[in-house]
Amino acid sequence: MAVIAGNWKMHHGPAAAVGFLSDFEIGSLPSAHELIVFPPTASLHAVASSDRRDARLQVGVQNIYWEAAGAFTGETSAPMAADAGASFALVGHSERRHVFGETDEDTRRKVEAAVRANLVPVLCVGETLDERRAGRVEQVILRQLDAALGGLRAAKRFLVAYEPVWAIGTGETATLADAASAHGSLRGRLAEAMGVASSATVPILYGGSVKPANAAELMSAADVDGVLVGGASLDPASFREIVDAAG
Ligand code: PEP
Repeated sequence: MAVIAGNWKMHHGPAAAVGFLSDFEIGSLPSAHELIVFPPTASLHAVASSDRRDARLQVGVQNIYWEAAGAFTGETSAPMAADAGASFALVGHSERRHVFGETDEDTRRKVEAAVRANLVPVLCVGETLDERRAGRVEQVILRQLDAALGGLRAAKRFLVAYEPVWAIGTGETATLADAASAHGSLRGRLAEAMGVASSATVPILYGGSVKPANAAELMSAADVDGVLVGGASLDPASFREIVDAAG
């Protein structure tokens, strides 16, 4: 079973998001895979509560703040996201790290907040092009994983997404060997931290310009348990094709 997750980023307001659900026609899809969408916060409740949403399509929040409530204008807490219908929380997405300046320490706090609110954290890690060129892929992604590991280990369940920054929204994708190598390093660190058997149950997703044409190949790489899809998840037909590509 693969995990196919769609990150809509800042697209699809409430009406468009519910329109997606109608057009996605999940009823006719094979049920073997785990499907998740991450709508923008403004559309979270509309998606989660829509009678057009099949229960097999799970819902997550793209970002949370670590405090539960208070004077934090513009932020969404983990309990509020859960109340609005989220079951998952993306943490440390590359746009949060590189556009909004989130640090490893911020991601640690957000993972802990997600776990307290019973949201399943999806920790995103990935290197920039400069870091890749400097041969620092493993060092960077393991540092990002290590920073969040304490919080992740307290979770009943968590996912990791390897998303090389240079591949997100660029049309570039990692080679199978690059993906397998990064995923293998992440799995190895999880095995050291939690034991081999538990580490094998953690889905590690690949993200970065996944589309219908490359999804099957990427999902065939060693230790790739699914995909986190940005741009190609916005269109119901292309998201369906990616689900189909998982077999
Ligand atoms: C993402 O948003 O996590 C992502 C991988 O985006 P894209 O598929 O558009 O590269």
